[in-house]
Amino acid sequence: MKVLVVGCGVAGICLTHELLRAGCEVQVIDNNKNVSSAVAAGIINPLVFRRMTLSWRVSELIPFAYSRYPEMEQLTNTSFFHPLVIRRLFASEQEAEFWKKKQVQDDYSAYMELLTEEDLHFPLEQNTFGTGRVKQASYIDTDSFMRANKDYFRSKGMLSESIFDHDELDPVQAVYKGITYDYILFAEGKDGKYNPFFAYLPLQQTKGEVLTIQSATIYSQESLNRKCFLLPTGDNLFKVGSTYTWNTDDTVPTEEGKQTIAANLKSITSEPYTIVEHRAGVRPTVPDRRPMLGRHPEFPKMVVANGLGTKGYMLAPLLMHELVNHLLNGTEIDEESHISRFEYLMNS
Ligand SMILES: Cc1cc2nc3c(=O)[nH]c(=O)nc-3n(C[C@H](O)[C@H](O)[C@H](O)COP(=O)(O)OP(=O)(O)OC[C@H]3O[C@@H](n4cnc5c(N)ncnc54)[C@H](O)[C@@H]3O)c2cc1C
Repeated sequence: MKVLVVGCGVAGICLTHELLRAGCEVQVIDNNKNVSSAVAAGIINPLVFRRMTLSWRVSELIPFAYSRYPEMEQLTNTSFFHPLVIRRLFASEQEAEFWKKKQVQDDYSAYMELLTEEDLHFPLEQNTFGTGRVKQASYIDTDSFMRANKDYFRSKGMLSESIFDHDELDPVQAVYKGITYDYILFAEGKDGKYNPFFAYLPLQQTKGEVLTIQSATIYSQESLNRKCFLLPTGDNLFKVGSTYTWNTDDTVPTEEGKQTIAANLKSITSEPYTIVEHRAGVRPTVPDRRPMLGRHPEFPKMVVANGLGTKGYMLAPLLMHELVNHLLNGTEIDEESHISRFEYLMNS
């Protein structure tokens, strides 16, 4: 089977690996303008702190991701997948109470360490209500991940670094620039909004900014979290973020974004630091916070793999596996992720 993957972010990369595993002949096309997977902090956090709930499908997504990323490391001969302890600084008494209640529940206990006296009195200047440690968290060094996978595809002669031109596509026969494919898979991230075949989908563009800071005195044994994440990446460097600006595909870092992150960081630490880098990206989000996967209702050889939102690194390995299984073996796509839920928008 011959497949063209449009987009080489985390969605396109995971798709390509799944297709290769299944024995497909794959070509990948990417315009080297990545503004999401490359900008992301790459944190995989099984909890949603805002509501102190579990992430969607976490018990399936995490084990699958944790089997696939090490395999990709082996294939690409690069280390980019790192286990991580995330320490949440509770924002209130109520949050600490939520943790205490949930840590003993069956579904939560796999992801929450039981609170200890040490956690409650952890020696951080901003520890007012205690802290809790997340289990089974990790992070992907996104720069290395992107570089290693692109190098790998390039070395196999599979990567075309150019713009995919939708005007040159015959969507019925799946012919692009004279080559016929069995499927063309669109993993275009925020630019999926400009794909004429899938423009009916409610893809949103949600800008986010992130800082890289350097400090010799900020605590660097764990990732700290309150109002923002503080991710130690080695050599006294940390990623801090992020911000949310809805409905824009502007990728310019702003002074306002920088100030917001700096203000949020104060709720974790007041240690001195210098800003080394300031980047902005755009997440491909969906109003119902679920991905958008599936074949086009009228052009079944056109397939979309988008809407990974704020947690692409956790979602992509399993969801892309499920999508490839669907295309090759006819298995069902998870109902909540299937684009059939938006078919009513097609002619509206
Ligand atoms: C500031 C910030 C922080 C984040 N932090 C995290 C985090 O900690 N953990 C996490 O899991 N997620 C995080 N995310 C979200 C994560 O980045 C996304 O979920 C994920 O990267 C989406 O991946 P994607 O492959 O769908 O899109 P993208 O990474 O945007 O990839 C799409 C690719 O398609 C290419 N493309 C598009 N159109 C064309 C065309 N016509 N021709 C050729 N190429 C094309 C683009 O250039 C791009 O390379 C963060 C995002 C931001 C912005």
